[in-house]
Amino acid sequence: MTPRSLLSGPVQYLKGVGPRRADRFEQMNVRTGRDLLYHLPHRYEDATTVDPISSLSPGDDATVIGTVVSKGVIPTRRRLRVFRAVLKDDTGMIECAWPGQPWLDRSITKGDRLLVSGPVRFFHGRQIQPREHTVLSRAAESDAPPSIHPGPEDGDFDRSGGQVFPVYPATEGLTHRQVRTIVDENLDTLIGEISDDDPLPAAWREELSLPDLADALLALHRPDSLDSIEPARRRLAFEELFFLQLLHARARARLRLDVEGISFTAPPDLTAPFLAALPFELTAAQERVWTEIETDMASSSPMNRLLQGDVGSGKTVVAALAMLKAVEAGHQAVLMAPTELLAEQHERTLTTLLEPVGAKPVLLTGSVTGKARQYALQRIESGEAAIVVGTHALIQDTVAFRSLGLAIVDEQHRFGVEQRRKLREMGGNADALVMSATPIPRSLALVLYGDLDISVIDELPPGRKPIVTGVRGPDSRDAAFEFLQEQLSEGRQAYVVYPVIEESEVLEVRAATSMHGQLEKRFSDFVVGLLHGRLKAAEKDDVMRRFLTGDVHVLVATTVIEVGIDVPNATVMFIEDAERFGLAQLHQLRGRVGRGADQSYCVAFQSGREPSERLAAFASTNDGFRLAEEDLRIRGQGDLFGKDQSGIATLRFADLERDRKLLEDARRRARAIVADDPELQASGHAELAREMEERYAGREALYQVG
Ligand code: ADP
Ligand code: MG
Repeated sequence: MTPRSLLSGPVQYLKGVGPRRADRFEQMNVRTGRDLLYHLPHRYEDATTVDPISSLSPGDDATVIGTVVSKGVIPTRRRLRVFRAVLKDDTGMIECAWPGQPWLDRSITKGDRLLVSGPVRFFHGRQIQPREHTVLSRAAESDAPPSIHPGPEDGDFDRSGGQVFPVYPATEGLTHRQVRTIVDENLDTLIGEISDDDPLPAAWREELSLPDLADALLALHRPDSLDSIEPARRRLAFEELFFLQLLHARARARLRLDVEGISFTAPPDLTAPFLAALPFELTAAQERVWTEIETDMASSSPMNRLLQGDVGSGKTVVAALAMLKAVEAGHQAVLMAPTELLAEQHERTLTTLLEPVGAKPVLLTGSVTGKARQYALQRIESGEAAIVVGTHALIQDTVAFRSLGLAIVDEQHRFGVEQRRKLREMGGNADALVMSATPIPRSLALVLYGDLDISVIDELPPGRKPIVTGVRGPDSRDAAFEFLQEQLSEGRQAYVVYPVIEESEVLEVRAATSMHGQLEKRFSDFVVGLLHGRLKAAEKDDVMRRFLTGDVHVLVATTVIEVGIDVPNATVMFIEDAERFGLAQLHQLRGRVGRGADQSYCVAFQSGREPSERLAAFASTNDGFRLAEEDLRIRGQGDLFGKDQSGIATLRFADLERDRKLLEDARRRARAIVADDPELQASGHAELAREMEERYAGREALYQVG
């Protein structure tokens, strides 16, 4: 057995565990001693978070600590058996009731000290119905008088100073108290094993004022006070962020080392005249981002970059510049869109943009067939076609470029694991640029896409009219439709969008269909189109095209609506059941309007009457990055690591809002290390690599190139 046996060995062999409890622990993903050490309390209680019993009134949500002075199971008329216990603290007494849990009578005894939390209601006097309860100490273990300021003499808590109670995540068949006892009994031994084995260099801990690992874990399991918890959490957060950034940094380095990229350094024969011919100046953000991309393209390492920018921020212009840079160096460039419609739209835009420099993009989609297709393929192969626009699928499968220098992927929405994989595969030694129109907070981007370089256009071109956004309740429907009528009469077009109804696409389609019928009746002078997921691809395409050409005036759609579609004449966006959408999605939808010269409007209908924080935020700003930050704040980060994400980036300790600085620091350090020593072989680095591999064992596949 190695000296690390307890840490790395199965939890089963720790004191107080055994095979049955090991099974329960397994359900909480606790398998080894190390897992147990990292099975941290999910909350803490101390005198400052506990309410004096006398202060409680019905309607409160209470947390109290008290001693059981009487208890018993009381049958009720409805044959429901209720366990009741009266708790007493220094200030008074209160009854707690657990309906339907008579078995508690066996585990809770008179004299036990309990921590309970739950709503207070009035039932023959004040009563708590505990949501949670924990036995802090047993009658037998403590003869201390009940007190809301439990002293160190309180049984179990002798060793923790008795001030703060850790409450552990528990599971069926393994109570908080059992978990706590088990952790407590094994803590010293386990921590003893790691004490000389802190993965973070002491110098860093000093620079960042972080405790060492053993102290941090000790503080989290047995805090002296609530104040000692946060520095300990920060320590684990940093560690978590650092090793993830190290993984990202190494993946990035490997990609750059494995392939010799193209160094695009020809004279600006195309980019300079293109810039000169643009009818506007680049915004400061576009300038900055273009410099980043240009520098990256000039270097001989392959570019692997994410270009983020809100809808309308001017990504396409930057993409055009990058393509021209590839072309002036004698290579080809390709822009790939997720759908045919979007590919066609890009082709039109680029044709106009590139006209002054005499470049003409070649379109290649599934709809380009027969002779036209042969011709396009042949020109791509010969290199005559310098700039190609198409859909993902085509470019990957059948097309041979003479010399592909730059591949741009327009994902429109947030891109996920699958897309990253495709991007890698497409690779060769071409530079790769992914465009995303979903603003996400920088902290989240660093965690999810830390292996990419990130460029952000965080500014809109001047003179945009902000879209006027309103949130309306069910009573304002008529007024809204009158407004719609006015806009249509002035020749404008409108979208009416329905949310994805999770349980049922059928419901969603039904809602949209019924609205379609209503609107057709109401706006009989106009053409109302319907777009939903049950339509055949050709039918969808047809409706979209007719909306694009102005033959359809109102488009009723479920969320299948193209995220990137650009209809400048559409000025009204109605969003039904807006509460069901996330902020990012709402913002994406709003981005469908406001693309022309006319004032645009977005109306979010909410079905409830309660004001919604999310919708208020949505109406308050047009700034996608601000909304993304707000979304992070409202929803919390848990939700943001959607299931399409790698899972590799799920954070347990770090908080993307609170730990921004730590994250930047972690990234800086990780990149600096890898810059000097990409394979992490130097002394001091090898230990870091080992720790990283242990953490991400079996999950690095995502980052493997080739
Ligand atoms: P995105 O691709 O980010 O949605 P686009 O590149 O399509 O944005 O730009 C949106 C519109 O703004 C286009 O009509 C484009 O010509 C225009 N535009 C882009 N950059 C500027 C700028 N710096 N100043 C003025 N207009 C601009
Ligand atoms: Mg665009």
